[in-house]
Amino acid sequence: MLELKNVSKFYYNKGIIASGFSKVNLELKIGEFVVITGESGSGKSTLLNVISGLDSYEEGEMYINGNETSHYTEKDFEDYRRKYIANIFQSFNLINSYTVYQNIELVMLLNGYKKHKVKKKILDIIDQVGLTKFKNTKVSKLSGGQKQRVAIARAMVKDTPIIVADEPTGNLDSKSANEVIEILKKVAKDKLVVIVTHNIEQVEKYATKIIKMNDGKIIENTEIKKITDEPKPQESEYNNISIFNKYRLGIRNTFNIATKFLLLFAVFLFMSSAILAEYSSFQMSEETLNEGYSMAFSDLSKNRILINKKDKTSFTSEDYDKIKLLSNVDYIVEDDVFLDSEVSIVKDGIDFWGSMLDINNLKGNVDIGRMPEKEDEIVLETNKDHFYIKGSLNEVLNNTFSILKPAGRDSFSDEKIKDLIIVGIKYTENIFNYDCKFYTSKNVLSELRSTINKNYSTMKVFLNNRYEKYNVEPNENVERGKAFVDDELKYNFKNYKILNQPLNIYVSNIYYDAELDLSITNTYTKSNFRRLTGLDKYDNNRNTIFVNVDDYNSLYNKPSYQSSVFVKDVKIIDQTMQELENLGITPKKVTDFKMTEEEIYKRIIKIIKVIVTIVLIIVLFFISYLIIKIILKSRNIYYTTLRMLGATYKNVKRILDIELFVNSTLAYSVLMLFIHLAKSNIIHLKYIAKLSEYLSIREYVLMYIILIAISRLISAKFARKLFKNTTINTYNEEV
Ligand code: ADP
Ligand code: MG
Repeated sequence: MLELKNVSKFYYNKGIIASGFSKVNLELKIGEFVVITGESGSGKSTLLNVISGLDSYEEGEMYINGNETSHYTEKDFEDYRRKYIANIFQSFNLINSYTVYQNIELVMLLNGYKKHKVKKKILDIIDQVGLTKFKNTKVSKLSGGQKQRVAIARAMVKDTPIIVADEPTGNLDSKSANEVIEILKKVAKDKLVVIVTHNIEQVEKYATKIIKMNDGKIIENTEIKKITDEPKPQESEYNNISIFNKYRLGIRNTFNIATKFLLLFAVFLFMSSAILAEYSSFQMSEETLNEGYSMAFSDLSKNRILINKKDKTSFTSEDYDKIKLLSNVDYIVEDDVFLDSEVSIVKDGIDFWGSMLDINNLKGNVDIGRMPEKEDEIVLETNKDHFYIKGSLNEVLNNTFSILKPAGRDSFSDEKIKDLIIVGIKYTENIFNYDCKFYTSKNVLSELRSTINKNYSTMKVFLNNRYEKYNVEPNENVERGKAFVDDELKYNFKNYKILNQPLNIYVSNIYYDAELDLSITNTYTKSNFRRLTGLDKYDNNRNTIFVNVDDYNSLYNKPSYQSSVFVKDVKIIDQTMQELENLGITPKKVTDFKMTEEEIYKRIIKIIKVIVTIVLIIVLFFISYLIIKIILKSRNIYYTTLRMLGATYKNVKRILDIELFVNSTLAYSVLMLFIHLAKSNIIHLKYIAKLSEYLSIREYVLMYIILIAISRLISAKFARKLFKNTTINTYNEEV
């Protein structure tokens, strides 16, 4: 059955070669009961490990059923071990957190047996080793003799032709030792048993061969009973563990050691809440940053003061009159939003950029042309050296230009919103300034202001108790206070009752909030769309909410909530600010905002935040990996034992995967439950509730996927490390 010819085993340890055993010649047959003795360090264990395929050898040849094994791969030895070998160790190698039954069942499951088919066999074998009373006891609670009997039972259930026992009685008192040997002898029928012991008397009466080792060599080989007719070995049958049983083991392992479970759980809980918190607070600061964006001022003149009314109402003409009376006030720009939102006016190939101003703000007279007389006439203030003024003045003066719709927060538009004629040109005093100014009438300004307000506002529609983003358009056919909506929206309502439902449109920007309370009076479908709205294309307008034109304009056509005062003498600007305060006005120097620098600063902050978030997640991964590694390290013995019992790398990885998956999913669910409770105010954690507002389902799912990915990475890394070495080395490193 087994033959060793001049086999040697060396250990390489930091450049030093130690001999395990050398030039061993040995022939072992089925039916033998081989006893190996010898002093400690003589190479007995090493020999057994090589015979068991747990360790490799360096020289000579080992034959199994006449086949050479020197070319065997780790996988070949795995097969060999599963077919032929059952090990019993001095230190038992049982899973302490499993019951007697579960320990024996484990071998069966790992070798592909179905759970319900093995029960009778396991109970039968437990009975044979006399442990029926303890079948549901955890192994950690058993005495040494009982443990070794479990180990024998585990070896028996595998039903292999070879049983290898390394000092199975070494840790036992003589009574238990005798019992164990008795049982082994019973089992040994038609098998090859190789046993290492120091106590020859105990085994003498059963031994068919006694081998004595010294200093890595066999010095005596006494055959007591010769086996002439070697029976053909009955290979143990095995399959791969079923997926179902992998899950069963993975889940069993999740919970079998309470402290380990709780530690892992805590790590996963910490990891997922840290990632969620970091991510959502990042989102939160993003949002706050964006709100400030529209406050960017492009006119940062030293003599400009921004003014708002303390009672937050809009300015009236009386207010402006009072301000004008202040001695240091040069002029007021009522619609100061125009100072900061540049528009462009274009006419085939010629364009000017600049801000719109009230014609009353024009100082002095025009240099060329004349002052406007009609609504749609404007004065252009520009640099004398401006490209188009120098080159094609005739194409500019008394020509019609179109204003383009001002760019919104994140859009550029080439939509023309109004035609204007340039009737006069004024040259800028500052010869280095190429920014233009367009002086126009109050009516044109107020039209533009609606457009600008719209661009800088966010609109929400409150419908069926929820805020949603819908496209809202003015429509001539809709009466005041009413709204036409897409018929599809009715599916959001109970019993599809959408008619007469309230609809609230809420608009906000940095200057004001405005809202409209409407009632849904009509719904449109493809067939009645044109009749109802007078518009052509249903498909382009799906889900649009149509409201009355005046209602719509009331949202945006607001008087000025913020204006700018320009002072004559900057040196006494503080005095003017004080005087404004006394008028019930909040003044702010525009230079205090230094928005251009602030923008850069914000951008840097944002980049830093992204980096910090990424670094934090990476650091978290490594911290978690380290902690989990330490926790799992205590489980190394478990996993090497699995390997000894026939689990492959893939099996071990999977079982570990499942354990971490179950644990991390549990931790994540608990976190979700927590957030849910905070959100629905059952527990009062404002901060958590606030953070969670910045997360959508998509992000929760993403976080979960990240968590699972991390736990899989950890299990893969761990399993790879476990299988890097031969089984016995991994095991020895850990014991
Ligand atoms: P025994 O089981 O007879 O007490 P071993 O087989 O354990 O002896 O050891 C045989 C020799 O091999 C000893 O000299 C021992 O120091 C050496 N040895 C065993 N395992 C290792 C190892 N992992 N690395 C280096 N040397 C080892
Ligand atoms: Mg030993």
